[in-house]
Amino acid sequence: MNILVINCGSSSLKFQLIDAETEKQIAKGLCERIGIEGSRLVYQPAGGEKEETVTPMPDHTKAIELVLNALTNEKTGVVKSLDEIGAVGHRIVHGGEKFASSTIITDEVIEAIKACNDLAPLHNPANLIGIDACKKLMPTTPMVGVFDTAFHQTMPKEAYLYGLPYEYYEKYQVRRYGFHGTSHSYVSKRAAELLGKKYEDLKIIVCHLGNGASISAVKDGKCVDTSMGLTPLEGLIMGTRSGDIDPAIIEFLAHKEKKSIDEIMTVLNKKSGVLGLSDNLSSDFRDLEKSYNAGEDRGLRTIQTFAYRVAKYIGAYTAAMNGVDVICFTAGVGENSPLVRNLACERLGYLGIALDQEKNNKRGEELEVSTPDSKVKVLVVPTNEELAIARETAALVK
Ligand code: AMP
Repeated sequence: MNILVINCGSSSLKFQLIDAETEKQIAKGLCERIGIEGSRLVYQPAGGEKEETVTPMPDHTKAIELVLNALTNEKTGVVKSLDEIGAVGHRIVHGGEKFASSTIITDEVIEAIKACNDLAPLHNPANLIGIDACKKLMPTTPMVGVFDTAFHQTMPKEAYLYGLPYEYYEKYQVRRYGFHGTSHSYVSKRAAELLGKKYEDLKIIVCHLGNGASISAVKDGKCVDTSMGLTPLEGLIMGTRSGDIDPAIIEFLAHKEKKSIDEIMTVLNKKSGVLGLSDNLSSDFRDLEKSYNAGEDRGLRTIQTFAYRVAKYIGAYTAAMNGVDVICFTAGVGENSPLVRNLACERLGYLGIALDQEKNNKRGEELEVSTPDSKVKVLVVPTNEELAIARETAALVK
């Protein structure tokens, strides 16, 4: 069965068509600037040429219509008709406490996702628009919602409660939810496979280090803690997000800079992280590594602070699980930066961790980068959220 995986943002839409039996990608692409002048569709069949078409996309329905036309195009399409698309899997950012697993999308499910809009006001409404557009264009094709938060719903209370008045949890469900769940789930399961061990017997720490970054602790096949919180702002230092800070900084800066809370939140989400720390040099680690290698203070302080925070969380999650068997690095930085992996692992000698420098110098490959006698295995596992969504979708539709 072919599964269309859709990841819908407010003005963009990424898609992949995946054969659920062979798990091969058949085509992929994205729509950009939906609802904005200059919108374009990028479409690439597997093994074929990338095509770019600049064409008006006033809304998401038009964008998905163009995607479906591209997939069924006589010359460059990959399926003869829409009947060859067995199901659609939608990435949904926030499932609150309602969704602890993926689910077939029904009218009740749509209402329940809407009820989580307050928790992810930028993302959930966009995800719902994608669902609505697919419903219009493919009314009989089953759809599945795969939630970024679902994998983390197994966290115990002590990991998800904040030290706030309990009534805020009861009234507004203010608690830790965690994100990137599809990636943490995929990578931790893959780690068990690669090591030839039972998933339920391992203590795994997954470091998802991309433009957004989060860490999770997975014990006996269940997530027991994760670094992102009510929103994706908490935890590690990210591309442009601050991660953990003293909450009193918000009021302090609002007074000093004469800014509103909303303006300070924009600083914390868009102008902080490695971009802010490097004095606006870049949010991209390729630029930051150049600066680091040139011995410049802004590259040095930024990458060292980023890696220190990663090591600190690994220490915390080792304590949370009373040990760790395997640490996985994934996503753009985790897969491609030997430097960041080295700087984080250098601080973990007390766990008996040693990296094989030759292996660690490889980029973007699935491999074990620790030495054979390292007490904790360190793996690089490229994430594949689309494949994970396709698997969940196929399993539910069957
Ligand atoms: P993601 O959000 O997972 O797509 O990760 C994107 C980030 O990965 C980019 O912003 C870069 O910081 C980082 N990245 C991608 N390629 C490399 C590379 N070759 N070396 C270092 N960092 C990289």
